[in-house]
Amino acid sequence: MLASSLRPYQKEIIELVRVAFRSYRSVCMEMPTGSGKSVVMREIINSFIQKNKTFKEDRHIYFLCNETFLLYQFGKHVENMNIPHDIIGDGYRERKSVNVHVTMIQTLRNNPPENNPSLFIIDEAQWSTSNSFMDLFFKYPDVKILGVTASPEGPGGKGLSIQSGCGIYEHLIKSPVSMRDLTEMDYLCPVSYWAVPTSDYDNAGISQGDYKTGEIDKLIAEKGVFGDVIKQIARFPQVQDHILIFCKSVKACYALQEVFFANRYRAEVLEGSLTKNTRNKIMKNFESGEIQVLITCKMVLQGVDLPALLMCVDVAPTLSRMIWRQKVGRLVRPFPGKTEGIYLDMVGNIQRATKSGWVYEDIDWNFDGKTFNKRSKSLEATERFCPICYAYIPPPGNVCPYCGAERPAEKRKEKEEKVLDGDLVKLEFVPLKDRPIEERRQTEEAIAAAIRDGDIDRLREIGNSVCQNRKNVPFFVYRKMNQKSKVIDIPLLYRIQKSFGYKASWVHFAKQFLKNEV
Ligand SMILES: [Zn+2]
Repeated sequence: MLASSLRPYQKEIIELVRVAFRSYRSVCMEMPTGSGKSVVMREIINSFIQKNKTFKEDRHIYFLCNETFLLYQFGKHVENMNIPHDIIGDGYRERKSVNVHVTMIQTLRNNPPENNPSLFIIDEAQWSTSNSFMDLFFKYPDVKILGVTASPEGPGGKGLSIQSGCGIYEHLIKSPVSMRDLTEMDYLCPVSYWAVPTSDYDNAGISQGDYKTGEIDKLIAEKGVFGDVIKQIARFPQVQDHILIFCKSVKACYALQEVFFANRYRAEVLEGSLTKNTRNKIMKNFESGEIQVLITCKMVLQGVDLPALLMCVDVAPTLSRMIWRQKVGRLVRPFPGKTEGIYLDMVGNIQRATKSGWVYEDIDWNFDGKTFNKRSKSLEATERFCPICYAYIPPPGNVCPYCGAERPAEKRKEKEEKVLDGDLVKLEFVPLKDRPIEERRQTEEAIAAAIRDGDIDRLREIGNSVCQNRKNVPFFVYRKMNQKSKVIDIPLLYRIQKSFGYKASWVHFAKQFLKNEV
């Protein structure tokens, strides 16, 4: 790997790591999903190996994970980096001939390294809050530790820093780029967000900073959420496979699988008790589309790459924004033919998680665990979701880009009046028929001219001035352009959709709407 082929921000991160290790022995590095973590780690490892050669030293790097299935996943990552390595544990012994070893924290605890460790790399460092990691920190005071994570905050709002009492890192290196930056630079695929209205889960008990699994399972069953999952997925006819579902427990995974079976979906559950071979087979068949739906509770949260993933359905309420960001992060990998990832929230996770920043924004991560166990009581909705199709309406717009519906005025009034300060001028709407005769004549002439020229953009502007409800403007345009025919003119709908800047799925919605009207 030539350093020159690194992206500028990747070079910046590597330099930050170098500098940080001069002052600290354990450093946590934030790298958003899709920012090229493997490339950066390969560069760090290679320069380390190079240094070994230069100084004729025999120092070793240990890659640590905390789950057996990740052992092979991490091994694959290191293999993809073209770095000679071995795997220790699960029947494999350590070798002397390589300088990079992949192992589990538990293995290292029981079998001290046979070689001279110089650096521990902890990938998916957001999970490194257990006692095993703490032991490691104190047992090897001379060994440097590098944690790497997309979300430098532990589960349940635990901190990762030494000061927090839960973690082992002395210093956090913040990423110079955010997910928004990476999406704008076309390194990541955009994600669309859909929040299906849900009753809240406020009454569920809490343990270690997150909802109790058993109570959530019970509530989900009582509310009949599983049946709704099928209904909601069917709203996206373009998505037939590469659908990932998050449940709260393994038991819930299997219950939901039955619902999918009953609806003729090919669905599999991925969970920890399956053998390595079964897991690999499921993953392979999911990637090929043979299995349409993959259901899991936390297996796919860390370390697993699914670039072709099209949709993620969240049926696992959480209070952890770290876990929420991990889920959304599964969708952002670019893949040929993929234009967006769809995140479908069935349980109000967006509302809870985004209180401290939207997914693309820089989050002030709780690295120091200062807000541990603090739970916000009010579950205020984000209020930027379409009341009709549940799609996220990006600011500053108030019209849904998918179905054209408008956000309810009463919800947004208070907030936006504050933003606009004193500049807000209320315009009283006057219907065209009540306007001065000269204006009516001019408007009629302008409409006739636009119809004659087939000028949709012009009609749209006229529509904005004559329709009280902006939702009706595209249909105003349609009716003017298609006065004679009783048949629904699909190509015309597409032209209108383009003119309004709506997503292509609006055409489907409009077609249904016009059909119901006839
Ligand atoms: Zn909508």
